[in-house]
Amino acid sequence: MTDEQITEQTAETKQLARLRAVTFDELDAFYAEMGTEHPCDNCGSNEWTHIGDGEGPVSLRLPAFNRDTAFALAFAIHCNKCGNMRLTIGSTLLDWLQNKDHQ
Ligand SMILES: [Zn+2]
Repeated sequence: MTDEQITEQTAETKQLARLRAVTFDELDAFYAEMGTEHPCDNCGSNEWTHIGDGEGPVSLRLPAFNRDTAFALAFAIHCNKCGNMRLTIGSTLLDWLQNKDHQ
């Protein structure tokens, strides 16, 4: 493995660790800033619940169909009335968090 590959792998590990440490408060701040709290497209309700548990948000691992080991990570909220889900791709959240972390 080259130094460049090791550097890339280390950066990826740090990014995954940061996504694992995301809190409900950080997601709420992200959603508020991005306007994701708008009413549900399906039913008009604006009551949303995070996908998560007592340990915090759960990120969803979405495997790629046409790449053997590739996957995307997403965070989700669902409408309390009709169950409609909204997904946020982890890379966008990570960019937002890194800007916040460095301010
Ligand atoms: Zn709904």
